[in-house]
Order: sequence, then C-alpha cells, then structure tokens
Amino acid sequence: MSDFFRPATLAEALEIRANHAAVPLAGGTDLLVRYRNWAGTLPKIEKPVVSVGHLSELRGISVHQNGAAPDLSIGAGVTYGELLAHPQVPELLKNSIWWLAAPGLRNVATLAGNLCNASPAADAVCALYALDATVDIAGAGGTRRVPVEEFITGPGRTVLRTDELVTAIHLRPDEGGVVFYQKVGTRKANALSKLSICARASVHAGVLESVGIAVGAVAPTIVRSRDIEATLIGRPVSDIAAHAAEVVSRYEPLVRPISDQRSTAEYRKATALGLIGRFLMERLTG
Ligand SMILES: Cc1cc2nc3c(=O)[nH]c(=O)nc-3n(C[C@H](O)[C@H](O)[C@H](O)COP(=O)(O)OP(=O)(O)OC[C@H]3O[C@@H](n4cnc5c(N)ncnc54)[C@H](O)[C@@H]3O)c2cc1C
Repeated sequence: MSDFFRPATLAEALEIRANHAAVPLAGGTDLLVRYRNWAGTLPKIEKPVVSVGHLSELRGISVHQNGAAPDLSIGAGVTYGELLAHPQVPELLKNSIWWLAAPGLRNVATLAGNLCNASPAADAVCALYALDATVDIAGAGGTRRVPVEEFITGPGRTVLRTDELVTAIHLRPDEGGVVFYQKVGTRKANALSKLSICARASVHAGVLESVGIAVGAVAPTIVRSRDIEATLIGRPVSDIAAHAAEVVSRYEPLVRPISDQRSTAEYRKATALGLIGRFLMERLTG
C-alpha cells in the first residue's frame, strides 16, 4: 500500500511533494481510474499520494482587479459543482461543464484535475484555451504563472515539476458576447468526447473585436490558432460568412486526429472542420 498524506496547509503539501515526490490527489476521478486494480480492491498507486482538494488556500473563487482588467481566480480545489453555481464564471466554461460526466462526479472533480491530467479530450480545458486562461504554479522554487497553452506540453504532459502544485486558474469573469460549445459524444452523460469545440467572440458595432476558437480531441494537444484568429479580428461580422470556407481550410493542417475506441480520424476531422464553419457562418454572424 502507498503512503497517503493529508496536509493541513498548502505549505505542508508543497513540502510533502518536494520530499516524497508524492502524486497530488484532488477529486480522484482521473487518478483512481488510471491506477484501478482488480474489481473490489483498492487502486494500486506505487508512489506516495498527497491529498490537495481540501486545502483552504485552494478552495475559493474570487474576482480581483488586475490593473485595468478584472480577474477571476479559481482555486485548484474548486469543484465543477461550485463553478456552475458562481455567477461570474464564463458561460462557455459552464457549458463545457454541463456536458462533463454527471452531477455526482461534478461535485467532487476539479477543473485543475482536468488540466493536470492534460488529455487532448479534456472538455473543460478546451474552454480554458478559448478563454485565454493562465495557471498559477507553486513549488519549492517559488511561484509562477503560465498561459494554459504553455502549461500543457503533450498528451498527459505538463510543465509541472515533481515539487510543484497548481494552485489556481485565472480567467476574465463572464463578459457576455457570443459563445459556442458543442461536444460530440456517444451519450449525453458520462461519455468522453469524440471531439469538442469551444469558441467565443466579442463584437462591437458590427466588427469582430476578439475571438477564441479551441478544438479538443483532434490533435496531441487542444488546437487553437491565434494566427488564424488574427485574420478575423477587425473584420465586419457581416463579411465573415463569405470567407468562412477559406478560414476553415486554414485549420485543416492543424486538425490531425487519430482513430481510437471512441471515433475514427476521418469522422473527427470532418466534424471538427464542419463545427468551426458552423461557428463562423451561423453563430458568429447569425
Ligand atoms: C465516469 C467518468 C466520466 C468522466 N467524464 C468526463 C468528461 O465528460 N469530460 C472530461 O473532460 N473528463 C471526464 N472525466 C475525467 C475526470 O473526471 C476529469 O478530468 C476531472 O476534472 C478530474 O478532476 P479530479 O479533481 O478528479 O482530478 P484527480 O483525478 O484528482 O487528478 C487528475 C490529475 O491531476 C493531478 N492533480 C490534481 N490536482 C492537482 C494540483 N492542484 N496540482 C498538480 N496536479 C494536480 C493529479 O495528480 C492527476 O494526475 C470522467 C471521469 C469519469 C470517471
């Protein structure tokens, strides 16, 4: 059996992480499945485990002013249920959570766990890409903040060192605008995505001011292209439908799915490109 630590403070958790290279446990809905054992027996985790989801330093959701911009800080121990109940959590993130697993799981599982698991099919992480999220990391060497696109380096891989923990995720509070979320899965609940799309935009006086389009489960990491988005910003939205096919074709080399037990590469690619087109032609200009 592995050692299990339940620290009282974040400082203690970081010390345990540094001294024992302990695996962090939040809701356990990825970790305990990854190390599942024979039916009726406990999960078999070779390394020590450190529980972090209960730590008071990681439990809050708060809004602060960061210079001119408001900043929504989501502690790494916050569950999906708590995010759904908060009025300033962006609608796009909430939409991704409504379709994630089922209520029982949403009451224990965390956004930070979805992020640290670094699956290209992670539904809520797809929203974090579209929403320009940043991630706070604490460790023996101090703290740092990195954009979500730099935090995840590959399937199941992140920049986290063995002595570090994610402490919070930052976003802009809900700012209205256009949002588009589609999850393609086998069932409505408890189904991992075949693919998903999270997109948001703000439009002022008929002109596209900002846009974020992220697609999950179609490449080794979630796909977002700021270069393609830059070609759209500043255009009248009434022009976008006419150029949508050309814009979609630019995503073609970035959408490189695989076939697996959930779907085929061909289906994923055609559906992902079709949904990007639907966002541009129907949701954005409609
Ligand atoms: C039945 C079922 C259905 C599911 N459906 C979906 C779905 O529809 N969509 C989807 O995206 N996912 C789904 N999942 C996967 C899972 O529920 C989510 O990824 C969830 O967000 C994981 O959060 P957690 O708190 O349980 O993480 P945990 O399992 O506790 O941890 C996940 C990983 O993150 C690490 N970790 C956790 N917290 C920290 C921290 N603060 N700092 C550093 N590392 C940390 C852990 O060490 C582990 O590697 C499903 C799982 C199950 C069992």
